[in-house]
Amino acid sequence: MKTAVVWFKRDLRMADHAPLAEAAHCDAAVGLFILEPAWLTSPECHPRHVDWLLKCLDSLRDALAARGLPLLVRTGEAVAVLAALRREFHFAHLLSHEETGPGWSYARDRQVAQWCRSQSVAWAEFPQTGVVRRLKDRKGWASRWQHRMDAACVPTPQAFKAARGFTPAEVALNLPTLRDLGIAAAPDTPPGGETAGQVMLASFLSGRALGYRRNLSSPLTAQTGCSRLSEHFAFGTLSMRTVHQATEAAIQNSSSRELSYGLRGFSSRLRWHCHFMQKLEDEPDIEWRNFARSADGLRAGDGAPMREMDRERLQAWCEGRTGFPMVDACMRQLLATGWLNFRMRAMLVSFAAYHLWLHWREPGLFLARQFLDFEPGIHWSQMQMQSGTTGINTLRIYSPAKQSLDQDPQGHYIRQWIPEFGSAAYPRPIVDERSALAFAKEQLYGLRQTSEAHREAGAIQQKHGSRKSGLPSTGTRTRRVREPDTRQGSLF
Ligand SMILES: Cc1cc2nc3c(=O)[nH]c(=O)nc-3n(C[C@H](O)[C@H](O)[C@H](O)COP(=O)(O)OP(=O)(O)OC[C@H]3O[C@@H](n4cnc5c(N)ncnc54)[C@H](O)[C@@H]3O)c2cc1C
Repeated sequence: MKTAVVWFKRDLRMADHAPLAEAAHCDAAVGLFILEPAWLTSPECHPRHVDWLLKCLDSLRDALAARGLPLLVRTGEAVAVLAALRREFHFAHLLSHEETGPGWSYARDRQVAQWCRSQSVAWAEFPQTGVVRRLKDRKGWASRWQHRMDAACVPTPQAFKAARGFTPAEVALNLPTLRDLGIAAAPDTPPGGETAGQVMLASFLSGRALGYRRNLSSPLTAQTGCSRLSEHFAFGTLSMRTVHQATEAAIQNSSSRELSYGLRGFSSRLRWHCHFMQKLEDEPDIEWRNFARSADGLRAGDGAPMREMDRERLQAWCEGRTGFPMVDACMRQLLATGWLNFRMRAMLVSFAAYHLWLHWREPGLFLARQFLDFEPGIHWSQMQMQSGTTGINTLRIYSPAKQSLDQDPQGHYIRQWIPEFGSAAYPRPIVDERSALAFAKEQLYGLRQTSEAHREAGAIQQKHGSRKSGLPSTGTRTRRVREPDTRQGSLF
């Protein structure tokens, strides 16, 4: 008799779900999601993440129950929850997807692996993205990604045999509320769950992708012009393979050249997703330390407490009151909605890293809390890339003034998010841009010219760099910095 627990993590869906398909062949199974205090209290977690997670669990629970599998949602440390469940249901198999998560989840997985060994529970972990475990270097990575994404999707099981006493009718399938979890309130979040993801995907493939490349960069057009699938990837309500295959099919069937042009641009970004996650998989401590050790100690806050002046700058940046209108408008959109397009995310980080000369870790934690789609591998790689600490990417400094000229020439976006813009209530710029950037460039270019930095760059490129042209070019081009007019009330 084969007994199993399907442990849901960042894979809250029915489709293309290998652990679920395996459970459908078992004689007795239950589904489990663990609300872990380590996550709820982590500095990356925000009430909006919990709110959205509960929506996703609600939809998954109903879909599973309709096929006879209960979804138990339990709160506690993973090993304690698994041990308690094993006393109720003596399972021999634990089925889950691989996870490339933050340090606490890596530590938890090691404890779970040890517990499984001590209890003779066989833990099977299945890949769900293009991330490859125990990879030596990036040779052949792109073709492995392609192979995985082109493989047939796992069929959705139609029926399960629940463990005795655990049929959906026999157990309480209530979900905790935010209040039960000690959260007083959360900002509005979009519709969650697999069906919401499918609706979003369909609307993108069938029409919204039409002007994708044109609409990507401006915060005015990106909100509807981008796919808006990132939170679905982050919580696994859609599988990367499903989206890849649906996109390729849409390209094949499209009679519009413009639509297929947009879809091809989108398709290449799906590979970027896994390319960046692979970096964290290969080097888990990039969450805390610089890719390039030669950049250690470059900015205050790197291994030493932040100075008062930096704390004040960080605070102004977090609240969207730096006195640089495009920066502040973007931050305010993010605070209100939990999403921002790529270019504006990069500009926010570039501003923190170069104009304010802040180390990436604290701004990165703040953004991680705000991004509903927080994906550690992409996030920490991008934080470092946009801060100039990877050692291999060309430094890219965004001028907020040029971004407003290019992306919001009429100032609609700025006025939408900064109602007090132009009045005495709007703050003056918190730094002098010209001298701040002169200082930043001198520090960084000086550092890069050392022989130690050159040697290190070779090793980083070997381990993390893409071998395929066409892979991430974002952030690798040099941008000339335009000196803006930062007079109070001026858009540019
Ligand atoms: C500092 C910084 C932090 C970021 N943090 C995250 C994060 O935590 N989670 C996250 O999903 N993305 C992150 N990104 C990448 C990117 O901004 C988002 O993926 C994108 O804005 C999400 O919106 P979308 O799904 O509509 O994207 P689309 O433009 O429609 O792209 C489709 C998908 O491709 C992938 N993708 C797109 N751009 C990138 C990129 N540059 N790198 C890797 N994958 C990409 C994402 O999975 C995205 O959902 C970050 C970018 C920066 C500059």
